[in-house]
Amino acid sequence: MKITKICCIGAGYVGGPSCAVIAHKCPDVTVTVVDLSQERIDQWNSDNLPIFEPGLEEVVKSCRGKNLFFSTEIDKTIIEAELIIISVNTPTKTYGLGKGRAADLKYIESAARKIAEVSTSSKVVVEKSTVPVKAAESVNNILSANHKHGVRYQVLSNPEFLAEGTAISDLLFPDRVLIGGPQTPEGREAIDALSWVYQHWIPMEKIITMNTWSSELSKLAANAFLAQRISSINAMSAICEATGADVSEVSHAIGTDTRIGARFLQASIGFGGSCFQKDVLNLVYLSECLNLPEVAAYWQQVIEMNEYQKRRFANRIISALFNTVANKKIAIFGFAFKKDTADTRETPSLYICKYLMEEAALVSIYDPKVDHKQIVSDLTDPAVSDKETVDKLVTITTDPYEAAKGAHAIVICTEWDEFKTYNYQRIYDSMLKPAFIFDGRMILDHQSLLELGYHVETVGRRLVR
Ligand code: NAD
Repeated sequence: MKITKICCIGAGYVGGPSCAVIAHKCPDVTVTVVDLSQERIDQWNSDNLPIFEPGLEEVVKSCRGKNLFFSTEIDKTIIEAELIIISVNTPTKTYGLGKGRAADLKYIESAARKIAEVSTSSKVVVEKSTVPVKAAESVNNILSANHKHGVRYQVLSNPEFLAEGTAISDLLFPDRVLIGGPQTPEGREAIDALSWVYQHWIPMEKIITMNTWSSELSKLAANAFLAQRISSINAMSAICEATGADVSEVSHAIGTDTRIGARFLQASIGFGGSCFQKDVLNLVYLSECLNLPEVAAYWQQVIEMNEYQKRRFANRIISALFNTVANKKIAIFGFAFKKDTADTRETPSLYICKYLMEEAALVSIYDPKVDHKQIVSDLTDPAVSDKETVDKLVTITTDPYEAAKGAHAIVICTEWDEFKTYNYQRIYDSMLKPAFIFDGRMILDHQSLLELGYHVETVGRRLVR
């Protein structure tokens, strides 16, 4: 089966960059990314892309208008494509059965229904969104219940492993590409067709094929293992703080063991982002549904540990500042959930702000990339705070020196490289004394900060002045 036209449903953090890279690497294929949101599509078609990712702009500009298109013409694009990628959001359900744990598949369902409604020729349908095991079966059921004469569908699972902040290099040089599909002749043909697309730039040995359920579960498993490593090292950080051990040394010691490996062993204020929490919760719910309560409890603990770490760090700030932060200015450096992205979904920074605001602290937020409107919208979420409190307690600045001026403390919440380059003498001089720095990402040179006169608190280490 020759693929000449791809339609991707969902122009978000995954659909946009992944299809830009496909178009960039496959000049013989026309790729159109569609979305319900006209605003998002307009941004993809402008110089002001809706998401910030290093290298994304160059890739988009290399093929936009040639073989890469962004459109709201969903029906037409589906009709013309041989291969349809579903890359819609699958957030945690906020209502009804499985509330707070299960993945909400309503966007997947509506995309599948739309494909079934408008298709006039056979399609390979690729589930790129992260979904519970057996979601492809549900998509297949919708498609086959509505198929028209002669129209056939093959549903594949092709989960995405990119990480925000490094999405383009992850897509260009992935560790592996996973394709799950039916082990039938038609299924194999569909797998080969998708595999052919990736073979434009990815070596054959990195394209792993397997059955659909294994592929779906592998994505949840990968995120659960990564989140579990972070929670494990964060649990160690609490022991370090209580004993005098240094979590960086422990992390180095265990990371050099080739059986363990060094990555994802950085203690911090907890993981954030749209995926880790939701996918681990998704796994918890799946385990519960499969009547495996011990397995569910095991994975649930990864989330509990993450909550504990954020709360623990906020409590350390409060207790170091003489047990009260009321009416004290505290500078928050970083609001994105990690560096090199403007994404704030589930960002630990939000929770640190929330906990400090509950104690009536005056938080002054600086982030190099996050839009101020986004920060206000996150803080005024009913689960966090209300507009009146935000108006009273929060300022958002475009200047880190302004954020720190007159503050009692600086809290590093995101590991932006630029935070390492500031003139901390100048900042110290402008702060109230004693001046505190809480380095939640362990990125600063603590020794030189101590020499400047700061009180430094960090994760997993006791600093002696
Ligand atoms: P997103 O919210 O940024 O984008 C999803 C887009 O889909 C939105 O623009 C939305 O308007 C659109 N959409 C929803 N329903 C639609 C429909 N019926 N028709 C057309 N458009 C529709 O989400 P994302 O971060 O790109 O994530 C997409 C999926 O990829 C999720 O399942 C996520 O878990 C998974 N994933 C995300 C990441 C990541 O780092 N963000 C990494 C790997 C996998």
